[in-house]
Amino acid sequence: MSPPRAAVVSIGDELVLGQTLDRHGAWISDRLLSVGLETVEHRTVADDGHAIAAAFRELRDRAALVVATGGLGPTKDDLTREALAAATGDRLVEDAAARQAIEAWFASRGRTMPASNLSQARRPFLASVLANGHGTAPGLRVRCGDGWIVCLPGPPREMQPMFEREVLPLAAELATAAPVRTLVVHSFGEGESRLAERIAELMDRDRDPSVGTTASAGGVSARLRTRGGAEAVDRLERAAREIESRWAPYVFGRGEATLAMAVGELLVEQGLTLSVAESCTAGMLGEMIVSASGASRYFAGGWQVYSNELKHALLGVPQEMLAEHGAVSAAVAEVLAREAATRSGTTCALSITGIAGPGGGTPTKPVGTVFVGCFDRRRGGSTRRFLIPGDREVVRDRSARLALMMLRLRLMDLDETPLLWEVRP
Ligand code: ATP
Ligand code: MG
Repeated sequence: MSPPRAAVVSIGDELVLGQTLDRHGAWISDRLLSVGLETVEHRTVADDGHAIAAAFRELRDRAALVVATGGLGPTKDDLTREALAAATGDRLVEDAAARQAIEAWFASRGRTMPASNLSQARRPFLASVLANGHGTAPGLRVRCGDGWIVCLPGPPREMQPMFEREVLPLAAELATAAPVRTLVVHSFGEGESRLAERIAELMDRDRDPSVGTTASAGGVSARLRTRGGAEAVDRLERAAREIESRWAPYVFGRGEATLAMAVGELLVEQGLTLSVAESCTAGMLGEMIVSASGASRYFAGGWQVYSNELKHALLGVPQEMLAEHGAVSAAVAEVLAREAATRSGTTCALSITGIAGPGGGTPTKPVGTVFVGCFDRRRGGSTRRFLIPGDREVVRDRSARLALMMLRLRLMDLDETPLLWEVRP
């Protein structure tokens, strides 16, 4: 089932000729969207009966609600009424209540009604008349197959109140019969284009649910969207599972889930605990870990060992090792992780040491070079080397996320999985 949508027809020679800018299209679409109904098309049509009728016929096939404005006046160039009758194969009749209302409008102003205004009391036989509290032109509404066509007067101060009273509730009803349903699947550690390739046909423009990818903070998310009742929820769930299986093992959660939460869940499930030793991130990793509520169940704490002195004094990194390999090295990352676990008594530990820049790079270790150490008492220790593009903050942020992802892969026994920006020896 395709979702209900709206189309807007703005009628008037002055609009097509460029003498007046169509403002109704944008205003109406914005109001429709506020109740969840999307617009597929805006069309601007001259005061030409055939063109108006053609617009109605074409758009009603594509839209559950067609909203037209203008051309309901009493003069010869006002042809919307006739066009509506022609498009729906109906005939025009005089509406007694509408005639009374127009006569009363003139009477209340002490004016006699010009004969031409009587044409405004006419409606297609099957249409209903919408009262106009601010002028003489009544609106028209007609059921058309599964949808509706509604014609409103052109002057904004007449059109807008009539829209609010007569069209918005109808739009809300159409929209809630098929509410928008969305779901977001998050991943980290693989590039957007590769992930998009893996789900290429699910991203085809005409697929339902629609799927798009967005990249942020080094992660890639798939956004799924459909409309409808319970069957739409199933459709969304099936598509999400398909994406999750194709994006495995980089997928870590849905919706509000964060990488830190996903890692926390694994630690709790496996009855493990975690500590950290951070050099270039100096607390960022710990901050990410404790941003997940319930982190106290598994997170012990850690060390900010920015200088070589503290790496040696607090975590026992040998001075010869620092001299020989440099602080930014696999050897140091490994000791930092192992010692963090040993000295804090946790089962697992993560360490980060790197060159966040902008200074400090060398030909063999350019800015963005980061070593992450991951220690797990059962599975042992390992390190990975990364070359992360970006400025200082980006390098530090991505380092912390990569560390979390590395631990996650390790806890899933998927240590061999390559990660984005990884430099393999
Ligand atoms: P009615 O159905 O009330 O008779 P009409 O077509 O006779 O409408 P017009 O006299 O053409 O009304 O327009 C009334 C006023 O509303 C004009 O100032 C016109 O520029 C403005 N108007 C009509 N349609 C639009 C539009 N789509 N965008 C901006 N202004 C509009
Ligand atoms: Mg007009």
